[in-house]
Amino acid sequence: MDLNSMYIDELRDFFVSKGEKSFRGNQLFTFLHDKKRIDIENSNLSAKALEIIKNEKITTIEIYKMYSSEIDETRKMLFKLEDDNLIEGVLMKYKFGYSQCISTQVGCKMSCGFCASTKDGVIRNLSASEMLGQIYAVENHFNITISNVILMGSGEPLDNYDEVIRFIRLLHDEKGHNLSYRNITLSTCGLADKIRDLADEDIPINLAVSLHQTNDTDRSKLMPINRKFNLEALKKALIYYQDKTNNRITFEYTLIEGQNDKDSNVKELKIFTHGLKTHINLIPLNPIEEFNEKRPNSFGIQTFKNKLENENMNVTIRRELGSDISASCGQLRRRVKR
Ligand code: SAH
Repeated sequence: MDLNSMYIDELRDFFVSKGEKSFRGNQLFTFLHDKKRIDIENSNLSAKALEIIKNEKITTIEIYKMYSSEIDETRKMLFKLEDDNLIEGVLMKYKFGYSQCISTQVGCKMSCGFCASTKDGVIRNLSASEMLGQIYAVENHFNITISNVILMGSGEPLDNYDEVIRFIRLLHDEKGHNLSYRNITLSTCGLADKIRDLADEDIPINLAVSLHQTNDTDRSKLMPINRKFNLEALKKALIYYQDKTNNRITFEYTLIEGQNDKDSNVKELKIFTHGLKTHINLIPLNPIEEFNEKRPNSFGIQTFKNKLENENMNVTIRRELGSDISASCGQLRRRVKR
C-alpha cells in the first residue's frame, strides 16, 4: 500500500517493524494529511526514517486542467493520475464555505442511461490517497479549506468499498484533515448489500441514494443495478441503515420529462418512502449527448415538487451549478471532450 493511504497506526507499526520509533509514523501522517505535502525530504523525519521509506510509494495527483464557470463560481478540475488516467471533480462555493465533489473510480460500470460517467465503463478503482489527493490538490492550489465533501463524481463509491471507507476515515482523522463525518455525503445508485455494510461501520456520514424511478419495471430500464437489487431489497437495506444510524436518507431524483414526473410516480414515491425518514432532492436532468430525453420545464418541476409536498414529503430542488462547463450532475467524464 502507498504511504499516503495508510492509517496513522499502520504508519507507526510500519516504522516500528523497520526498527524506527513509532512517533515517526505520527510525523509522517501529519506531514501528508495535515500539511498536505509530499516533499518528505523537507519534513522533520530523521535521516534514518527517510532511508526506511526511500523505496516506499507516495502517490501523487495533479490538477491537469481547470474550467471556471462564468455564471457562478463553480470550477471543474481535471486531475491527472500517475498512470495518465484523467478524472474530474468540481469545486463549489456556498455561503458556508467550499464544497468539493470527488470521483471514486476512473469511469463507472453501473450503466445508468442518463449519466456520462459510465459511458466508457469502469477502468479502475481509485485508492484512498487518490481521493484525498483531489482535495489536497485543490486546497493547496487555492489556499482554501474544503468544509464539505460529496462523493458524487465519477464512479460508484460502494463499488470501491474498502478504499472509500479508508478515504473517509482518513479524511476524518483529527490528526489529518479533521473533517466531521456530518460534512461528508456518499451517494450510491443502490448497492443494497454494501449499504448494510456501511450501516455497520459506525461512521455517521450522510447517505444519498439515486432513486430516479418509483417501480421496478421502469427503474430496471433506467438503472441496471435495479435488476440485482430491486426496490424491495433497497428499501430493506435502507430500513436497516436507518435503524442503525438514525440518519435521514436523501433520495436523489433526476427529473426526466414524461418518464418519472407523473402522478403515478408521486403515489409510488409516497409508498416507497413510507417508514423512512427522508428528504427528496430533485435534480432537473442535465443534457448529455448519449441520452435523448429532456427535463420538464420549470413549471413542470415546480408542479412535481408541490405534489410531493402535498403528500408531506420533504423536497428540495438541487441548485444547478457549473452548467456552462459541463460540471453538473451526470456530466463528468474521464476524458477531455473535444
Ligand atoms: N454512482 C453514485 C454517485 C454519482 S452521484 C450514484 O449513482 O449516486 C451523481 C448524481 O447525479 C446521481 O444521483 C446521478 O444519478 C445523477 N445524475 C447522473 N446523470 C445525470 C444527469 N444527466 N442529469 C442529472 N443528474 C444526473
